[in-house]
Amino acid sequence: MEIANCKFCNSEFEMRRSDQKFCSNKCRSRFNNKNRLRNNPIIKETNKTLLNDYIIFLGILGNDQEALLEKQKARILGFSGRQCTRLENLDGIKKQVMVIYDIAFYPYNENYFKIIKL
Ligand SMILES: [Zn+2]
Repeated sequence: MEIANCKFCNSEFEMRRSDQKFCSNKCRSRFNNKNRLRNNPIIKETNKTLLNDYIIFLGILGNDQEALLEKQKARILGFSGRQCTRLENLDGIKKQVMVIYDIAFYPYNENYFKIIKL
């Protein structure tokens, strides 16, 4: 019997058919779900927005731990600010802040967002 690696979990399995790609039905269905979700327009759009905002943060921060981002400049750069990966409470800040991966942001005042590398 021929041995192959599962296309989803990469574990070795004995092929029962020559075109078998997965070690189990579970792996086949997980692989298909993952691909379907990856192509879901809402998920695609949300991930694009998150990544775009994150790249803007990285550019503004450079090597600094914190920075202010002028709201007008943010708009020009295409900053969305509508999505985050989680909310967090930070010491010394009364309200919850939005976080994209490892960078927090919140409206600092009328004209600026504050961005903080966590
Ligand atoms: Zn598998």
